[in-house]
Amino acid sequence: DINGNIVTQRPDNGGWKAPDGDKPDLAEQSLLNKLIRRSLVRSRHQVEVLQADPTSPLYSVKTFEELRLKPELLKGVYNMGFNRPSRIQENALPMMMAQPPQNLIAQSQSGTGKTAAFSLAMLSHVNPANTWTQCLCIAPTYELALQIGQVIEQMGKFCPDVKLAYAIRGNRMERGVKLEEQIVIGTPGTVLDWCSKYKHIDPKKITLFVLDEADVMIDTQGHRDQSIRIYRLLTRACQMLLFSATFEDSVWRFAELVVPDPNIIRLKREEETLDTIKQFYVLCKEKEDKFTALCNLYGSLTIAQAMIFCHTRKMAAWLSTHLIKEGHQVALLSGEMTVEQRACVIERFRNGKEKVLVTTNVCSRGIDVEQVSLVVNFDLPVDMDGNADNETYLHRIGRTGRFGRRGFAVTMVDSERSMGIINQIEMHFNRRITKLDPSNLEEME
Ligand code: ADP
Repeated sequence: DINGNIVTQRPDNGGWKAPDGDKPDLAEQSLLNKLIRRSLVRSRHQVEVLQADPTSPLYSVKTFEELRLKPELLKGVYNMGFNRPSRIQENALPMMMAQPPQNLIAQSQSGTGKTAAFSLAMLSHVNPANTWTQCLCIAPTYELALQIGQVIEQMGKFCPDVKLAYAIRGNRMERGVKLEEQIVIGTPGTVLDWCSKYKHIDPKKITLFVLDEADVMIDTQGHRDQSIRIYRLLTRACQMLLFSATFEDSVWRFAELVVPDPNIIRLKREEETLDTIKQFYVLCKEKEDKFTALCNLYGSLTIAQAMIFCHTRKMAAWLSTHLIKEGHQVALLSGEMTVEQRACVIERFRNGKEKVLVTTNVCSRGIDVEQVSLVVNFDLPVDMDGNADNETYLHRIGRTGRFGRRGFAVTMVDSERSMGIINQIEMHFNRRITKLDPSNLEEME
């Protein structure tokens, strides 16, 4: 479908299939993170800045006042509860607002203030007196485009002359009718149609182009190509900004195609660490035995909140049903739920409405729930070949014990093979995993 801005076809991932039958959907994960995000994500790392012209002075701002924003825009920023620029914004904002315009590639994990930064840049960039599209922003999906739009609308609340339009599937206008909105946000397919086929936007008049979630964008071949085609319609004078949460080589190669002479800003992810986490394993016979061990464990500890990981959807469903029967308040995060339903489950868990969250790996990939103090691997994380999946193990349990807090991780071991995997994990991280007798939990105290 040539008009389809939402491409359903996804890359094959080399045949990789998640154990519980879900395919990891980067756009969904990103949306989920946005839906559950309340505040900035912290990072103790320094921002790395690479200037296109290393001889030009490097500016950074500690306050929003320093940016000399229009008063009504500054009011909008403060109205959102932002007191000062985030780490990435300190450097990115002056660069995005510099004269003459500069191109920028910025990478930092989700939640570090990228969307707010380019929303501010767009609002500041437009000339409200001109009633044509000046800023164009593309995002991988309809839902993600709407999320950005909401930020712009909120931030631009006191700028009544600045108008916003969504170039998304279903928004139809007569061919040749020109948009008067200064800012357009959309998905690549529709934006491309609006620029070329329907001529709602004159791409030669675009002076600021934003490509958000580049890593998610290139995950879909069609979006990658459409983005490049949009880029080619723009003029050399148009300012280009590209954002990404991760930065593999593929993202980098793509970024170089659509952002000439870029400045580059990067903020490394806060690494997960096992340093503050006590790791244990419990020997069990089969799943009923694991269940009993889990109940003993849970009953004897005064736990704040726990996350329990299962290998399959089916196991997660079985476990949550049995825990509920035992009188525990349990939330289940499962593959067949919509993003909104997942966000709701996580929200309730965060607010302490449930103490236990049962989930599969795929469901919780990439989401941060920080207050968890106990992680249980009801099933061990293994890769396709049945070997220890060290990275997943780290990601599961690394979420506890963040920012210096202490955390516990308990893994259920139900066979000699599982024991072998535990040994592999121990060796990989060079950290001891202590045997725990579930009827004697003094070791954990
Ligand atoms: P990203 O695009 O990197 O995922 P966002 O721009 O969505 O990050 O910001 C993450 C969260 O932090 C949002 O809830 C946003 O409202 C908030 N936020 C962004 N910038 C600031 C700031 N300067 N001060 C306080 N909160 C901020």
